[in-house]
Amino acid sequence: MALNFGRPQLSIPGPSVIPDRVLARMHQPSPNIYEGDLIGLTTSLFPDLQEVAQTRHTPVIYIANGHGAWEAALTNTLSRGDTVLILSTGSFANGWGEMAEELGVTIETIDFGANSDADPQIVQDRLAQDKTHTIKAVMTTQTDTASSVQNNIPALRAALDGAAHPALFMVDCIASLGCDRHEMDAWGVDVMVAGCQKGLMTPVGLSFVFFNDKAAEAHKSADLITRYWNWDTRANPDMFYKIFCGTPPTHHLFGLREALDMLVHEEGIKAAWARHERFARSLWAAMDVWAEGGVLHMNVADPAKRSHAVTTIMTAPGQATRLRNWCEEKGGLTLGVGLLPAGSPEWDSVFRIGHMGHLNIPMMMGTLGTIDAGLKAMGIPHGQGALQAASQIISEHDF
Ligand SMILES: *Cc1c(COP(=O)(O)O)cnc(C)c1O
Repeated sequence: MALNFGRPQLSIPGPSVIPDRVLARMHQPSPNIYEGDLIGLTTSLFPDLQEVAQTRHTPVIYIANGHGAWEAALTNTLSRGDTVLILSTGSFANGWGEMAEELGVTIETIDFGANSDADPQIVQDRLAQDKTHTIKAVMTTQTDTASSVQNNIPALRAALDGAAHPALFMVDCIASLGCDRHEMDAWGVDVMVAGCQKGLMTPVGLSFVFFNDKAAEAHKSADLITRYWNWDTRANPDMFYKIFCGTPPTHHLFGLREALDMLVHEEGIKAAWARHERFARSLWAAMDVWAEGGVLHMNVADPAKRSHAVTTIMTAPGQATRLRNWCEEKGGLTLGVGLLPAGSPEWDSVFRIGHMGHLNIPMMMGTLGTIDAGLKAMGIPHGQGALQAASQIISEHDF
Protein backbone atom coordinates (compact mmCIF):
# COMPACT_ATOMS: atom_id res chain seq x y z
CA MET A 1 0.00 0.00 0.00
CA ALA A 2 1.23 3.48 -0.80
CA LEU A 3 -0.04 6.57 0.97
CA ASN A 4 0.86 9.06 -1.69
CA PHE A 5 -2.45 9.92 -3.29
CA GLY A 6 -2.41 13.69 -2.91
CA ARG A 7 -0.34 16.73 -3.76
CA PRO A 8 3.34 15.76 -3.99
CA GLN A 9 5.72 17.68 -1.73
CA LEU A 10 9.10 18.66 -3.15
CA SER A 11 11.54 19.36 -0.33
CA ILE A 12 14.76 19.64 -2.31
CA PRO A 13 17.06 22.66 -2.25
CA GLY A 14 16.00 23.95 -5.63
CA PRO A 15 14.04 24.10 -7.67
CA SER A 16 11.66 24.92 -4.86
CA VAL A 17 7.88 24.67 -4.76
CA ILE A 18 6.29 27.04 -7.27
CA PRO A 19 3.23 28.78 -5.81
CA ASP A 20 0.02 28.14 -7.74
CA ARG A 21 -0.33 31.90 -8.11
CA VAL A 22 2.99 32.06 -9.95
CA LEU A 23 1.97 29.23 -12.26
CA ALA A 24 -1.42 30.84 -12.87
CA ARG A 25 0.15 34.19 -13.71
CA MET A 26 2.28 32.47 -16.34
CA HIS A 27 -0.72 30.85 -17.96
CA GLN A 28 -1.47 33.48 -20.57
CA PRO A 29 -0.83 34.11 -24.25
CA SER A 30 2.43 35.59 -25.49
CA PRO A 31 2.35 39.37 -25.10
CA ASN A 32 3.52 42.14 -27.40
CA ILE A 33 7.23 42.41 -26.68
CA TYR A 34 7.75 45.78 -28.38
CA GLU A 35 5.31 47.96 -26.50
CA GLY A 36 2.58 47.73 -23.90
CA ASP A 37 2.34 46.19 -20.46
CA LEU A 38 5.42 44.00 -20.63
CA ILE A 39 7.75 47.01 -20.61
CA GLY A 40 6.32 48.38 -17.38
CA LEU A 41 6.12 44.95 -15.81
CA THR A 42 9.81 44.37 -16.54
CA THR A 43 10.81 47.75 -15.16
CA SER A 44 8.80 47.09 -12.02
CA LEU A 45 10.88 44.01 -11.18
CA PHE A 46 14.12 45.88 -10.58
CA PRO A 47 13.25 47.82 -7.41
CA ASP A 48 11.78 44.67 -5.90
CA LEU A 49 14.91 42.68 -6.68
CA GLN A 50 16.91 45.50 -5.09
CA GLU A 51 14.76 45.23 -1.98
CA VAL A 52 15.32 41.47 -1.82
CA ALA A 53 19.10 42.00 -2.06
CA GLN A 54 19.11 45.17 0.06
CA THR A 55 21.00 47.17 -2.51
CA ARG A 56 20.70 50.43 -4.39
CA HIS A 57 22.35 48.79 -7.40
CA THR A 58 20.15 47.62 -10.27
CA PRO A 59 20.73 43.98 -11.22
CA VAL A 60 20.92 42.57 -14.71
CA ILE A 61 18.71 39.60 -15.53
CA TYR A 62 19.92 36.70 -17.65
CA ILE A 63 17.83 34.00 -19.31
CA ALA A 64 19.87 31.30 -17.61
CA ASN A 65 20.16 29.15 -14.53
CA GLY A 66 22.64 29.92 -11.80
CA HIS A 67 25.58 28.67 -13.84
CA GLY A 68 24.84 31.40 -16.36
CA ALA A 69 25.05 34.06 -13.66
CA TRP A 70 28.35 32.53 -12.53
CA GLU A 71 29.78 32.91 -16.02
CA ALA A 72 28.38 36.43 -16.35
CA ALA A 73 29.97 37.54 -13.08
CA LEU A 74 33.35 36.18 -14.16
CA THR A 75 33.41 37.43 -17.74
CA ASN A 76 32.28 40.94 -16.80
CA THR A 77 34.99 41.52 -14.23
CA LEU A 78 38.07 39.41 -15.01
CA SER A 79 40.78 38.96 -17.63
CA ARG A 80 42.78 35.97 -18.83
CA GLY A 81 45.70 35.40 -16.50
CA ASP A 82 44.05 37.02 -13.47
CA THR A 83 44.14 35.15 -10.18
CA VAL A 84 41.09 34.63 -7.95
CA LEU A 85 40.84 33.22 -4.44
CA ILE A 86 38.11 30.62 -3.92
CA LEU A 87 36.81 30.07 -0.38
CA SER A 88 35.43 26.54 -0.45
CA THR A 89 32.94 25.29 2.16
CA GLY A 90 31.42 22.39 0.27
CA SER A 91 31.24 22.16 -3.49
CA PHE A 92 29.61 25.18 -5.09
CA ALA A 93 32.43 27.73 -4.77
CA ASN A 94 34.66 25.08 -6.36
CA GLY A 95 32.28 24.76 -9.27
CA TRP A 96 32.38 28.50 -9.79
CA GLY A 97 36.17 28.36 -9.56
CA GLU A 98 36.40 25.57 -12.16
CA MET A 99 34.42 27.74 -14.50
CA ALA A 100 36.87 30.61 -13.94
CA GLU A 101 39.78 28.26 -14.63
CA GLU A 102 38.28 27.19 -17.95
CA LEU A 103 38.04 30.84 -18.89
CA GLY A 104 41.79 31.21 -18.42
CA VAL A 105 41.78 32.58 -14.87
CA THR A 106 44.21 31.15 -12.32
CA ILE A 107 42.49 29.91 -9.22
CA GLU A 108 43.80 29.49 -5.72
CA THR A 109 41.50 27.63 -3.37
CA ILE A 110 41.36 27.66 0.41
CA ASP A 111 39.44 24.55 1.41
CA PHE A 112 37.63 25.01 4.72
CA GLY A 113 36.12 21.52 4.56
CA ALA A 114 32.42 20.83 4.33
CA ASN A 115 31.35 21.19 7.97
CA SER A 116 32.25 24.74 8.85
CA ASP A 117 32.40 28.21 7.42
CA ALA A 118 35.30 30.10 5.84
CA ASP A 119 37.51 31.40 8.64
CA PRO A 120 37.89 35.18 8.17
CA GLN A 121 41.27 35.27 9.92
CA ILE A 122 42.75 32.74 7.50
CA VAL A 123 41.36 34.75 4.59
CA GLN A 124 42.75 37.99 5.99
CA ASP A 125 46.19 36.44 6.56
CA ARG A 126 46.32 35.11 3.00
CA LEU A 127 45.28 38.45 1.53
CA ALA A 128 47.77 40.32 3.67
CA GLN A 129 50.55 38.20 2.11
CA ASP A 130 49.46 39.26 -1.36
CA LYS A 131 51.38 42.52 -1.28
CA THR A 132 51.33 42.98 -5.05
CA HIS A 133 47.56 42.46 -5.18
CA THR A 134 47.73 39.60 -7.64
CA ILE A 135 44.38 38.31 -6.38
CA LYS A 136 41.67 40.12 -8.32
CA ALA A 137 38.62 38.59 -6.67
CA VAL A 138 37.62 36.61 -3.61
CA MET A 139 34.76 34.27 -4.47
CA THR A 140 32.53 32.30 -2.18
CA THR A 141 28.97 31.19 -1.46
CA GLN A 142 26.70 32.62 1.21
CA THR A 143 25.17 29.16 1.48
CA ASP A 144 26.85 26.11 0.03
CA THR A 145 23.92 23.94 -1.02
CA ALA A 146 25.87 20.68 -0.81
CA SER A 147 27.13 21.07 2.76
CA SER A 148 24.43 23.53 3.95
CA VAL A 149 27.19 25.66 5.48
CA GLN A 150 26.38 29.36 5.64
CA ASN A 151 29.32 31.73 5.50
CA ASN A 152 29.51 34.92 7.53
CA ILE A 153 29.59 37.41 4.66
CA PRO A 154 30.13 40.60 6.73
CA ALA A 155 33.02 38.92 8.57
CA LEU A 156 34.63 37.94 5.25
CA ARG A 157 34.23 41.51 4.01
CA ALA A 158 35.99 42.63 7.17
CA ALA A 159 38.82 40.23 6.29
CA LEU A 160 39.34 41.94 2.94
CA ASP A 161 39.22 45.32 4.63
CA GLY A 162 41.51 44.18 7.44
CA ALA A 163 44.12 43.24 4.84
CA ALA A 164 43.40 46.51 2.97
CA HIS A 165 43.09 44.33 -0.13
CA PRO A 166 41.39 45.74 -3.24
CA ALA A 167 40.09 42.40 -4.63
CA LEU A 168 36.45 42.26 -5.66
CA PHE A 169 34.29 40.36 -3.18
CA MET A 170 31.97 38.11 -5.21
CA VAL A 171 29.26 36.11 -3.46
CA ASP A 172 26.99 33.35 -4.77
CA CYS A 173 23.57 33.79 -3.14
CA ILE A 174 21.74 31.35 -5.40
CA ALA A 175 20.57 29.24 -2.45
CA SER A 176 20.17 32.03 0.07
CA LEU A 177 18.57 35.04 -1.58
CA GLY A 178 15.05 35.55 -0.26
CA CYS A 179 15.67 33.01 2.54
CA ASP A 180 18.64 34.12 4.62
CA ARG A 181 19.37 37.71 5.53
CA HIS A 182 21.47 39.36 2.87
CA GLU A 183 22.39 43.05 2.79
CA MET A 184 24.55 43.52 -0.26
CA ASP A 185 25.39 47.19 0.26
CA ALA A 186 25.74 47.20 4.04
CA TRP A 187 27.84 44.04 3.87
CA GLY A 188 30.14 45.40 1.15
CA VAL A 189 29.52 42.74 -1.47
CA ASP A 190 30.83 43.88 -4.86
CA VAL A 191 29.25 41.24 -7.11
CA MET A 192 26.33 39.04 -6.09
CA VAL A 193 24.76 36.29 -8.16
CA ALA A 194 21.37 34.65 -7.64
CA GLY A 195 18.77 32.60 -9.46
CA CYS A 196 14.98 32.62 -9.52
CA GLN A 197 14.23 28.97 -8.73
CA LYS A 198 15.10 28.75 -5.07
CA GLY A 199 14.07 31.49 -2.66
CA LEU A 200 12.34 33.38 -5.46
CA MET A 201 9.84 30.58 -6.22
CA THR A 202 9.87 30.95 -10.01
CA PRO A 203 10.54 28.16 -12.54
CA VAL A 204 14.25 27.86 -13.28
CA GLY A 205 15.39 30.08 -16.13
CA LEU A 206 16.24 33.54 -14.80
CA SER A 207 19.37 34.53 -12.97
CA PHE A 208 20.62 37.80 -11.62
CA VAL A 209 23.92 39.59 -11.28
CA PHE A 210 24.09 42.55 -8.94
CA PHE A 211 27.20 44.71 -9.04
CA ASN A 212 28.37 47.90 -7.39
CA ASP A 213 30.43 50.82 -8.69
CA LYS A 214 33.72 49.12 -7.89
CA ALA A 215 32.73 46.10 -9.99
CA ALA A 216 31.54 48.42 -12.76
CA GLU A 217 35.01 49.97 -12.72
CA ALA A 218 36.63 46.52 -13.01
CA HIS A 219 34.39 45.85 -16.01
CA LYS A 220 36.20 48.58 -17.94
CA SER A 221 39.42 46.59 -18.10
CA ALA A 222 38.02 43.03 -18.15
CA ASP A 223 39.03 41.19 -21.30
CA LEU A 224 36.70 38.19 -20.92
CA ILE A 225 33.63 40.21 -21.85
CA THR A 226 31.43 38.70 -24.55
CA ARG A 227 28.50 40.28 -26.26
CA TYR A 228 25.77 38.13 -24.78
CA TRP A 229 26.91 38.27 -21.15
CA ASN A 230 28.03 41.92 -21.22
CA TRP A 231 26.21 43.54 -18.32
CA ASP A 232 26.87 47.06 -19.56
CA THR A 233 24.50 46.94 -22.54
CA ARG A 234 21.86 45.26 -20.39
CA ALA A 235 22.14 47.79 -17.57
CA ASN A 236 22.10 50.77 -19.92
CA PRO A 237 19.77 49.71 -22.76
CA ASP A 238 18.86 52.22 -25.44
CA MET A 239 16.19 49.77 -26.64
CA PHE A 240 14.00 47.47 -24.52
CA TYR A 241 15.26 44.28 -26.19
CA LYS A 242 18.81 45.01 -25.08
CA ILE A 243 17.86 44.31 -21.45
CA PHE A 244 17.80 40.64 -22.44
CA CYS A 245 20.03 40.77 -25.52
CA GLY A 246 17.06 39.52 -27.54
CA THR A 247 13.51 38.35 -26.92
CA PRO A 248 12.55 38.86 -23.28
CA PRO A 249 11.69 35.77 -21.18
CA THR A 250 8.04 36.79 -21.21
CA HIS A 251 6.45 34.13 -19.06
CA HIS A 252 9.26 34.00 -16.57
CA LEU A 253 8.81 37.73 -16.14
CA PHE A 254 5.11 37.20 -15.42
CA GLY A 255 5.95 34.50 -12.91
CA LEU A 256 8.66 36.52 -11.22
CA ARG A 257 6.31 39.52 -10.98
CA GLU A 258 3.81 37.40 -9.06
CA ALA A 259 6.50 35.87 -6.85
CA LEU A 260 7.87 39.32 -5.95
CA ASP A 261 4.33 40.54 -5.24
CA MET A 262 4.09 37.75 -2.70
CA LEU A 263 7.59 38.04 -1.25
CA VAL A 264 8.21 41.78 -1.25
CA HIS A 265 4.78 43.41 -1.25
CA GLU A 266 2.71 40.98 0.78
CA GLU A 267 5.07 39.19 3.16
CA GLY A 268 8.04 41.59 3.19
CA ILE A 269 11.63 40.42 2.88
CA LYS A 270 12.45 40.73 6.57
CA ALA A 271 9.41 38.65 7.48
CA ALA A 272 10.52 36.07 4.92
CA TRP A 273 13.96 35.86 6.58
CA ALA A 274 12.28 35.40 9.97
CA ARG A 275 9.97 32.71 8.59
CA HIS A 276 12.89 30.78 7.11
CA GLU A 277 14.75 31.03 10.39
CA ARG A 278 11.75 29.72 12.30
CA PHE A 279 11.27 26.75 9.99
CA ALA A 280 15.00 26.00 10.03
CA ARG A 281 15.01 25.98 13.83
CA SER A 282 11.98 23.69 13.87
CA LEU A 283 13.79 21.24 11.58
CA TRP A 284 16.95 21.40 13.70
CA ALA A 285 14.86 20.68 16.81
CA ALA A 286 13.40 17.61 15.11
CA MET A 287 16.88 16.57 14.00
CA ASP A 288 18.26 16.90 17.53
CA VAL A 289 15.62 14.40 18.67
CA TRP A 290 16.17 12.00 15.76
CA ALA A 291 19.91 12.18 16.46
CA GLU A 292 19.31 10.65 19.90
CA GLY A 293 18.99 7.32 18.07
CA GLY A 294 22.74 7.55 17.47
CA VAL A 295 22.64 7.36 13.67
CA LEU A 296 21.44 10.59 12.06
CA HIS A 297 23.22 13.88 12.47
CA MET A 298 23.33 17.26 10.83
CA ASN A 299 26.41 17.98 8.74
CA VAL A 300 26.93 21.40 10.35
CA ALA A 301 27.16 21.20 14.15
CA ASP A 302 27.14 24.92 14.92
CA PRO A 303 23.69 26.47 14.37
CA ALA A 304 25.30 29.85 13.65
CA LYS A 305 26.95 28.33 10.56
CA ARG A 306 23.85 26.66 9.14
CA SER A 307 21.75 27.75 6.21
CA HIS A 308 18.11 28.58 6.89
CA ALA A 309 17.13 27.20 3.49
CA VAL A 310 18.75 23.76 3.20
CA THR A 311 19.93 21.16 5.71
CA THR A 312 22.39 18.35 4.95
CA ILE A 313 21.91 15.22 7.03
CA MET A 314 24.23 12.24 7.44
CA THR A 315 23.06 8.67 8.05
CA ALA A 316 24.70 5.27 8.19
CA PRO A 317 25.69 3.90 4.74
CA GLY A 318 22.69 3.15 2.54
CA GLN A 319 20.09 4.58 4.88
CA ALA A 320 19.76 7.98 3.25
CA THR A 321 18.91 6.48 -0.12
CA ARG A 322 16.46 3.98 1.37
CA LEU A 323 14.77 6.72 3.35
CA ARG A 324 14.51 9.01 0.32
CA ASN A 325 13.06 6.24 -1.78
CA TRP A 326 10.51 5.30 0.88
CA CYS A 327 9.41 8.92 1.34
CA GLU A 328 8.98 9.42 -2.40
CA GLU A 329 7.32 6.14 -3.32
CA LYS A 330 5.16 5.60 -0.27
CA GLY A 331 4.57 9.13 0.86
CA GLY A 332 4.81 11.57 -2.06
CA LEU A 333 7.71 13.48 -0.48
CA THR A 334 10.84 14.12 -2.54
CA LEU A 335 14.01 14.78 -0.54
CA GLY A 336 17.33 16.02 -1.88
CA VAL A 337 20.15 13.66 -2.74
CA GLY A 338 23.53 14.09 -1.13
CA LEU A 339 25.80 16.00 -3.48
CA LEU A 340 28.81 13.77 -3.19
CA PRO A 341 30.06 11.93 -6.25
CA ALA A 342 27.53 9.24 -7.17
CA GLY A 343 29.07 5.83 -6.59
CA SER A 344 31.29 7.02 -3.74
CA PRO A 345 30.62 5.33 -0.38
CA GLU A 346 29.25 8.58 0.99
CA TRP A 347 26.60 8.96 -1.68
CA ASP A 348 24.13 6.68 0.06
CA SER A 349 24.63 8.18 3.49
CA VAL A 350 23.67 11.79 2.87
CA PHE A 351 20.40 13.49 2.13
CA ARG A 352 19.27 17.07 2.11
CA ILE A 353 16.06 18.80 3.02
CA GLY A 354 15.21 21.97 1.13
CA HIS A 355 13.16 24.39 3.23
CA MET A 356 13.22 27.43 1.01
CA GLY A 357 10.69 29.72 -0.61
CA HIS A 358 7.02 28.84 -0.62
CA LEU A 359 6.75 27.11 2.73
CA ASN A 360 4.14 27.09 5.47
CA ILE A 361 3.49 25.01 8.57
CA PRO A 362 1.71 22.06 6.94
CA MET A 363 4.46 21.84 4.29
CA MET A 364 7.22 21.88 6.91
CA MET A 365 5.44 19.57 9.34
CA GLY A 366 4.38 17.32 6.48
CA THR A 367 7.98 16.93 5.43
CA LEU A 368 9.13 16.20 8.96
CA GLY A 369 6.22 13.85 9.62
CA THR A 370 6.90 11.88 6.47
CA ILE A 371 10.58 11.53 7.35
CA ASP A 372 9.62 10.42 10.87
CA ALA A 373 7.36 7.72 9.43
CA GLY A 374 10.06 6.71 6.96
CA LEU A 375 12.62 6.29 9.74
CA LYS A 376 10.20 3.99 11.55
CA ALA A 377 9.30 2.03 8.42
CA MET A 378 12.97 1.56 7.51
CA GLY A 379 13.93 0.58 11.03
CA ILE A 380 16.48 3.39 11.22
CA PRO A 381 17.19 4.15 14.89
CA HIS A 382 15.93 7.58 15.93
CA GLY A 383 14.77 9.42 19.02
CA GLN A 384 11.03 9.72 19.63
CA GLY A 385 9.21 13.05 19.74
CA ALA A 386 10.80 14.93 16.85
CA LEU A 387 7.51 16.35 15.62
CA GLN A 388 6.65 17.52 19.10
CA ALA A 389 9.98 19.37 19.27
CA ALA A 390 9.42 20.96 15.87
CA SER A 391 5.91 22.10 16.64
CA GLN A 392 7.11 23.58 19.93
CA ILE A 393 9.47 25.86 18.00
CA ILE A 394 6.82 26.73 15.44
CA SER A 395 4.34 27.61 18.17
CA GLU A 396 6.56 30.29 19.76
CA HIS A 397 4.15 33.11 19.52
CA ASP A 398 5.70 36.21 18.07
CA PHE A 399 4.44 36.18 14.53
C1 LIG B 1 21.63 25.86 -7.17
C2 LIG B 1 22.95 26.50 -6.94
C3 LIG B 1 23.83 26.80 -7.99
C4 LIG B 1 23.58 26.35 -9.40
O1 LIG B 1 22.44 26.90 -9.90
P1 LIG B 1 21.84 26.29 -11.27
O2 LIG B 1 20.58 27.06 -11.43
O3 LIG B 1 21.63 24.84 -11.00
O4 LIG B 1 22.82 26.54 -12.33
C5 LIG B 1 25.00 27.46 -7.71
N1 LIG B 1 25.30 27.85 -6.47
C6 LIG B 1 24.49 27.58 -5.42
C7 LIG B 1 24.88 28.05 -4.06
C8 LIG B 1 23.30 26.90 -5.63
O5 LIG B 1 22.50 26.62 -4.59
